[in-house]
Amino acid sequence: MTRRTVEHATCLGCGCACDDIAVVVDGDRIAEARNSCPLGRAWFADGSVPRETRSSGKTVAPDVALADAAKLLGRAERPLVYLAPDISCETQRAAVAVADRLGALLDSPTAEVAAGILASQRRGRAGATLGEIRQRADLVVFWGVDPADRYPRYASRYAVDPTGLQAPDGRHSRRVVAVDVGPSRGAADADERVAITPEDEVDALAFMRAVVLGRVTGDGTVARAATGLATQMMRARYVALVHDAEPSPHGLLHHPDRAEALIALAQALNGPARCALSSLRAGGNRSGADAVATWQTGFPFAVDFAPGYPCYRPHAGAAVLLGRGEIDVALLVGSPAGVPPAVAAALGQVTTIAIGPRVSAAPFRPKVAIDTGVAGIHEGGIAFRMDDVPLPLRPALSGPSVAADVVRALAARLTKGQS
Ligand code: SF4
Repeated sequence: MTRRTVEHATCLGCGCACDDIAVVVDGDRIAEARNSCPLGRAWFADGSVPRETRSSGKTVAPDVALADAAKLLGRAERPLVYLAPDISCETQRAAVAVADRLGALLDSPTAEVAAGILASQRRGRAGATLGEIRQRADLVVFWGVDPADRYPRYASRYAVDPTGLQAPDGRHSRRVVAVDVGPSRGAADADERVAITPEDEVDALAFMRAVVLGRVTGDGTVARAATGLATQMMRARYVALVHDAEPSPHGLLHHPDRAEALIALAQALNGPARCALSSLRAGGNRSGADAVATWQTGFPFAVDFAPGYPCYRPHAGAAVLLGRGEIDVALLVGSPAGVPPAVAAALGQVTTIAIGPRVSAAPFRPKVAIDTGVAGIHEGGIAFRMDDVPLPLRPALSGPSVAADVVRALAARLTKGQS
């Protein structure tokens, strides 16, 4: 068996999208993913994926599966197109075209971080690329998140360890503050810890913003902690305020106003100091789904094509319409493992066509299932990092069907009216 190495591969195991991975391939299996963290190694695994094409539970030829899928979608009264993770932007774009053609609702796991997106749309957002944070941040505040848990190389690649233009001694040039919000603890390797209860979190953020704007001082535990932290942030040259935008791993629901309070604090700090809000996002090119949907339709998620043009329905996305029983046929494009549990459960109650990695093994048993490769392992193209920087994918293996080709073939059948 021949051994070869694919250099500068991009890992989509989390939103860090590390593009310095050397993937060692032995025969038709991945033997090693050098430079990756344990999460990345689990994401690459040995690169094997199922290669099934199924319709009504039977193995069929790809043409038959596509014809069946086109028939089901063509007859749908209220179709849904759902962009799941582990597909490239090219595949996402092809799926958006199918949603447009069908007059479907288009949605993705981005709906899970809707509060932050809606707040950004209302207020704007003081952000930065991870490269800028690496170069400039001298104070890094981990707000209720230890990146070591779900974003393992964030600290070593971006902040806090690397050297930068204004951080010549790396970790020693930066001060790190961990804010522990209930069980959501900040980074373990912090110079200082501040504890806040989940009930006080939004009040503390509002208080900090008021302190930054020079409007308030106060007594009490929360006020003292907030005043101390806000003062420290105002005295910094460049603050990176890091929070986890994804749902809590502890099963706790974030306060609905939390994202807006973080955005507002970061904005206020761009008077006395500089501040960038760094929102941690999960992997599988989830950020690409927002980018492609916005580029193609004007809106990042929950886009309804039913009126004949794209309409934004952020409060009536896939989870809501599936829950109300309004969707009759769903096209899932991507990996079922990355679909939020409520949406995955509801997909089992409707006719589902699934195109993507490991869809033949989906727990909700799609009516038509066409396995494809995983973007970044078997398929090339573009994926977005959590800071909306697009990166090329360098596949190490050839896979089953290419997802973008399958979705385009389905779109062609729908356009020709072969449904
Ligand atoms: S930090 Fe994330 S993107 Fe980087 S190697 Fe680990 S899982 Fe992959």
